[in-house]
Amino acid sequence: MEEQEVVSKHFIEQIIDKDLEEGAYTKIVTRFPPEPNGYLHIGHAKSILLNYGLAQEYHGTFNLRFDDTNPTKEKTEFVDSITADVKWLGADYGDTIYYASNYFDQMYEAAVKLIKKGKAYVCDLTPDEIREYRGTLTEPGKNSPYRDRSVEENLSLFEAMKNGEYEDGSKVLRAKIDMASPNINMRDPIIYRVAHMTHHNTGDKWCIYPMYDFAHPIEDAIEGVTHSICTLEFEDHRPLYDWVVRELEYPHPPKQIEFAKLYLKNVVTGKRYIKQLVEEGLVDGWDDPRLVSLSALRRRGFTPESIKLFMQLSGVSKAQSTSDYAMLEYCIREDLKMKDNRMMAVLDPIKLIIDNYPEGQVEELEVENNPENPELGTRTVTFSRELYIDREDFMEEPPKKYFRLYPGNEVRLKGAYFVTCVDYKKDADGNVTEIHCTYDPATKSGSGFEGRKVKGTIHWVDASTAVDAEVRLYENIVKDDEPVRNEDGSWNINPNSLTVCKNCKLEKNFAGAKPGDSFQFMRHGYFCVDSKDSKEDALVFNRIVSLKSSYKPGQ
Ligand code: ATP
Ligand code: MG
Repeated sequence: MEEQEVVSKHFIEQIIDKDLEEGAYTKIVTRFPPEPNGYLHIGHAKSILLNYGLAQEYHGTFNLRFDDTNPTKEKTEFVDSITADVKWLGADYGDTIYYASNYFDQMYEAAVKLIKKGKAYVCDLTPDEIREYRGTLTEPGKNSPYRDRSVEENLSLFEAMKNGEYEDGSKVLRAKIDMASPNINMRDPIIYRVAHMTHHNTGDKWCIYPMYDFAHPIEDAIEGVTHSICTLEFEDHRPLYDWVVRELEYPHPPKQIEFAKLYLKNVVTGKRYIKQLVEEGLVDGWDDPRLVSLSALRRRGFTPESIKLFMQLSGVSKAQSTSDYAMLEYCIREDLKMKDNRMMAVLDPIKLIIDNYPEGQVEELEVENNPENPELGTRTVTFSRELYIDREDFMEEPPKKYFRLYPGNEVRLKGAYFVTCVDYKKDADGNVTEIHCTYDPATKSGSGFEGRKVKGTIHWVDASTAVDAEVRLYENIVKDDEPVRNEDGSWNINPNSLTVCKNCKLEKNFAGAKPGDSFQFMRHGYFCVDSKDSKEDALVFNRIVSLKSSYKPGQ
């Protein structure tokens, strides 16, 4: 069934349409400008897919640019992981990766140009004095006593700053704008500072570094970016962005547009917070499957398609809002439901012995790979006298409406036969260790048996060919519906956020599963082979998502 959907354009598309119509730009260029100081998370995916999506939609160009103007926190490790994440999401940035630090020469020249125009000056106030002179939201600032230095003096002082003649913090270059501006960002903001630090790209070439608000518009302009899309916290910085591109007289100045960040309700999203969890050892690194860094989501088994669908559903707007994690879960189920085979896996095994099945006999049964997608074909599973079933599928004394196995009850073993429980054994602690059944050969699945009906169907694994595995189940890292932090500031960690099932038994077709492969485990959810800990002879699976959903599309 084809559905006709009228999708209205979001506000950024409307701006671009208008710009193209008016001829402000002829070709659209967007960029994703991460600072290489941490791993990317689901919020960054929004920015990546938005920028890349617009470039595609308007047949333009999308740049990946590392905003590496701050030498203190940046690491090559992060450059590599960010690049891998952007690629994984399918955001094609072409053949070039851009680095803001490659433009340091042009930024220096731009600063000199401002000085020559009388629009920038070297200031000797201390950081504390600068703060004091800046004024407050309700009071205007005061002019720096160094504001009226001559162009010549400024040029030579700025050059001396570059040549390493001053200590860190002793001098800065400031834009000369308006100390009485109602927007504090316009009160002669610092545009260059002295910092004797080694930079990961430029080494020791520079001991002065540009500030973000000065550097970013220059980076955009150099690359011919048309729409510089960022998040709302930069809205108050836009007048400064516009001032920089205007004063530097770029012929086709880029335009800054802000949108609301993506937030997930009750999920730790911020880069800083994820970093704390990692550094405090509360998780197994940046790619711990309980996190929402992109490397963690990938390791957990989320697909780029599921993340794209999530971004489509969450929309683009200027209004701050939070999205539900349940919606992300819905998206991965939607993506995998037609793609993954439904296989049998027992997470908490208990032996089931079929007393009247011939010892030593092994049968091959053909089962569908995915009942919703016949294109995925069929496979065979083996069936023999000893099987495993999940502990929760048997009860000694069942409550009403329990249709699974209990003494005297008959159930269908999925794709195989009807079995009736005739006996069970327990150990000294009262744990059930073995279930005995009889089977009815006439009830073979697919044989056209039209006799009695059973209410319960359970999954099982043949013990003679079972593959051993470890399976990890996850819940939210912080406790649901409680504050993310305790009163003393410590994290409110959910003690059940990770459950490790060590002795799982999987059907034989799991043998040879490769890192990243995903499957539906019948009745348990979707699982993926862990890319870090799984080995060929010791498989480890992560539960991506269970089958139960608390999210309804259109909610
Ligand atoms: P965090 O907020 O997690 O500390 P950041 O904004 O400091 O991240 P950057 O490397 O500066 O990280 O971000 C790169 C780009 O990603 C920026 O354009 C930023 O606005 C965008 N971005 C960051 N977080 C989100 C989010 N939650 N939703 C949408 N875009 C985001
Ligand atoms: Mg940032």
